[in-house]
This record gives sequence, structure tokens and C-alpha cells, in this order.
Amino acid sequence: MSELSVNHLLGIKYLNKKDIELIFKTADHFKEVINRPIKKVPSLRDITIANLFFENSTRTKLSFELAEKRLSADVLNFSSAQSSVKKGETLIDTVNNILSMKVDMVVMRHPNPGAGVFLSKHVKASIVNAGDGAHEHPTQALLDSYSIREKLGSVVDKKVVIVGDILHSRVALSNIYALQMQGAEVMVCGPKTLIPKYIDKLGVKVETNLRTALNWCDVANMLRVQNERMDISYFPSTREYAQQFGVNKVLLDSLDKEIIIMHPGPINRGVEITSDVADSRQSIILDQVQNGVAIRMAVIYLLASKIKQ
Ligand code: ASP
Repeated sequence: MSELSVNHLLGIKYLNKKDIELIFKTADHFKEVINRPIKKVPSLRDITIANLFFENSTRTKLSFELAEKRLSADVLNFSSAQSSVKKGETLIDTVNNILSMKVDMVVMRHPNPGAGVFLSKHVKASIVNAGDGAHEHPTQALLDSYSIREKLGSVVDKKVVIVGDILHSRVALSNIYALQMQGAEVMVCGPKTLIPKYIDKLGVKVETNLRTALNWCDVANMLRVQNERMDISYFPSTREYAQQFGVNKVLLDSLDKEIIIMHPGPINRGVEITSDVADSRQSIILDQVQNGVAIRMAVIYLLASKIKQ
């Protein structure tokens, strides 16, 4: 039987191409399950999962919770705002206390890059990284590639441009790793100040002119400016950013070919994309959200089968 090469999902960089193919094949099955009248399977009746969110989330938190419930796992939800973290408890103590209640898997979002890797070395549970600071957001990249595969038949040789705040985005880094592993060509586009200095080492094309980037690509993944991770201004004003790096319908309709628009959410309508672009026929933003549940079911199911062995 095929299984993942890893015991945790800490980042795309720890996976290989076969892992991604296995996750997608498993997600195809779960996508069919969640379209049935009874959207639940009993697979994980014996597994308890804690969702630990030390940073805000809407989609990712709900999507993981739904995925876990559709697999019939027992679910614990924890959010740092109402917890003893505020009383000075360490991450390892918090998690070990939760694990002593017989928890098998931890899904964690944390503001510190590497928090998941750190935890995986200190506690006995399977760890799923639901976003660690500006580092990685592996399930987002998996659902993004899965949505491209669904829309275009395959990710191989597709041209994908990631637009916006590349510097502070965990979605960008995980997408670059995932897309390259599957044979796509990747470009990043944004203000020079929001393109990291180490970009050359990642083997992606760099473009600062949005129209040129959009005319090159099959898919544009539009990122939100991560204001919460900035302590200085990286561009003169939001209005100027939107003028240079935002996609509106006039720009979209004037391109050489029809491209696909993606966004990980939350959207700032009128900044990275206008409403008519977000809600257009070319946008697959809500497909991404829908696919997120099947992808997370697949990841949790495959990691749980390794715990059970
Ligand atoms: N939801 C994504 C993340 O958590 C993207 C964003 O917040 O802009 O990284």
C-alpha cells in the first residue's frame, strides 16, 4: 500500500513528488465523498486531533475542523487568545498538557517560522503545519496545485505567476516548492521591496511589470499584502500598490489570452483584485476553498494511517 514518506506535514520542502500525487489521489476520493448526501466516513473514529491556533484564521481553521469531522475524528479546538499562553506557559508545556489527554495529531498555526518543526522534535504526536509565520503553508499550496490540476488537467508545464507580497508570504514559498516539484514554471511579480533577496536561489522568474507577467502566465495567484508582518512601509500607498499590482477587469480582458485567477483569501477587494475579477468566470477562488476540505482530509487520513501502524 502507498504511504507518505513523512510522519508530519511540516512544509512542502519535506515532501516528494510521489507524496503529492498520493495526496491528490486520496483527495479525489474524499472529494467524491463530500459530494454525497452523507458527507462522512468512519475512517478516523479512533483518532483525536487538536487544532492549535496561535494566530488568526478563518478558512484554514474551519476547513481543518470540517475535514477532521468528515473523517469522524474527535476534535479539540484551541485558540491562544483565550488560553494560558497569555499566563506565560511555553509552547511545549501547552502542547504536552494537551497531548496527555490522549491526542494523536496536532494541527498548528503559529506566528513563528519553524514552530511546527520545533514541536515535532519535542512532542509525541503527528504535527500538521497550518501556517508558520512567513515560512510555509503546505496545505494551502497543495489545494492550490490541486485546483490548477482540476481546472487545467495537470500542473506539468503550466506557467504560474505569484503576485504581490512575496517577502512575507508563506503561501508564496510553499507554492513555489509545490509547483516546481510538479514541473510547473513559476514567476513572481511584485514591488522590488516585496521580492526577497534570496529569490534567485529559488529558481523562479522575477518580473516587476504586472501586464508582462499576466501575458506570460496561464494562472495568476494574487496574494494579500501581509500588513501584520510589516513594521515599515514597503510601498508609498495602498492606492499606488493597487494601481501597479492589482488586477481589474479592464486589465484582465485586455490580455493576450484567458488566464485563471486564484487567491488564498482573505481578499482585500479593490487592492490585489477588484470585485468583478474576484467574482468573474476566470476566478477559481471558491473552488480553492472547496478543494481545501478534500486536501486536508487526505493529509490527515494519510498521516493517521502511519500512526495506526
Ligand atoms: N490565508 C493565507 C495565510 O494564512 C493568506 C493570507 O493570510 O493572506 O497565509
